[in-house]
Amino acid sequence: MSLRIGVIGTGAIGRDHARRINQVLTGAGITALSDVDLDGAKAVKADIAPDAEVFAKGEDLIGSDKVDAVLVTSWGATHEQYVLAAIAAGKPCFCEKPLATTAEGAKRIVDAEAAHGKRLVQVGFMRRYDAGYRMLKQVVDSEIGQPLMVHAAHRNPSVPDQYVTPMAIHDTLIHEIDVFRWLLDDDYVSAQVVFPRASSHTHARLKDPQVVLLETAKGIRIDVEVFVNCRYGYDIQCQVVGEEGLAYLPEPTSIMMRKDARLQNPILTDWKDRFVASYDVELQDFISAAARGTASGPTSWDGYVAALSSDACVTAQEAPGTIVPISLPARPALYN
Ligand code: NAP
Repeated sequence: MSLRIGVIGTGAIGRDHARRINQVLTGAGITALSDVDLDGAKAVKADIAPDAEVFAKGEDLIGSDKVDAVLVTSWGATHEQYVLAAIAAGKPCFCEKPLATTAEGAKRIVDAEAAHGKRLVQVGFMRRYDAGYRMLKQVVDSEIGQPLMVHAAHRNPSVPDQYVTPMAIHDTLIHEIDVFRWLLDDDYVSAQVVFPRASSHTHARLKDPQVVLLETAKGIRIDVEVFVNCRYGYDIQCQVVGEEGLAYLPEPTSIMMRKDARLQNPILTDWKDRFVASYDVELQDFISAAARGTASGPTSWDGYVAALSSDACVTAQEAPGTIVPISLPARPALYN
């Protein structure tokens, strides 16, 4: 029988994941929807999931006997309560990042899942499912010797006016924070942030660009340029320097043109297009594991470590140049 999934939060990504599950992926269907904006949930029902029951409260969706597994795609500040409720109900749960908006909240989820004794939670760090990052990891693991340094960039053409300095960490760098731990099989021990000359395209509450320097337990040094008003496109760069060679994240496939006396390739401008295929792969992985009553992929522990590491980066933003230590508590055996 097909896995019956309930979606809490039917905004942009919730709607898109519902579409994936009902129209693209196999082995699951949407049987329940919930959102504080009931009309939004009803619209997703009308457009994508006509058989779904609409619930006013996410907790009632989780408790429904029509729901085997839960997708939490609501506003970040509500994730913790729904993930904890899913664990209490013993139901597999995919939670979009962030797992929780505080490290303490993420730790409560880790503790609840560890007490449950079996993995139930997958966090939506989709870059681990991206074909380019997977190819890069294979090369880093086998071809270039020990990794020594990573040079990376996360560039957006522009951001909304309400985007302020800490969001460069919590909303933007968070993907690099997770994917480099996975890519290097390592954890961070410190963070430092320095600010170059500011772009004239930013505003008083957003320092842009910024350079985040991370050091790992193995001694690898990572520099990430976060530049969210770069104007020219959405551009994710990653170069790993190993003792035997260098490895680069592949560029997205695009058509090269010779035209008007120029040799050119288009560059994406919308972040939604850059990792679109990886969302399909991550959710198919969720469906496969949830059908077995468990979870796969990025863990609650990964979500917790991402929160701790992000907090250190934000502290580092507040005192430019200061090296902020990152220390992790003991990892519960469930996540080894
Ligand atoms: P969005 O369009 O604002 O959608 C969030 C939805 O959740 C809205 O419909 C909102 O309703 C609803 N909501 C708020 N409080 C709720 C509650 N207590 N119970 C149920 N629903 C509630 O945002 P989004 O872009 O879809 O983002 C949702 C989450 O996905 C965020 O955590 C974001 O970080 C994450 N995300 C991840 C990626 C990725 O690349 N992995 C990409 C995009 C988003 P109202 O509008 O009425 O408040």
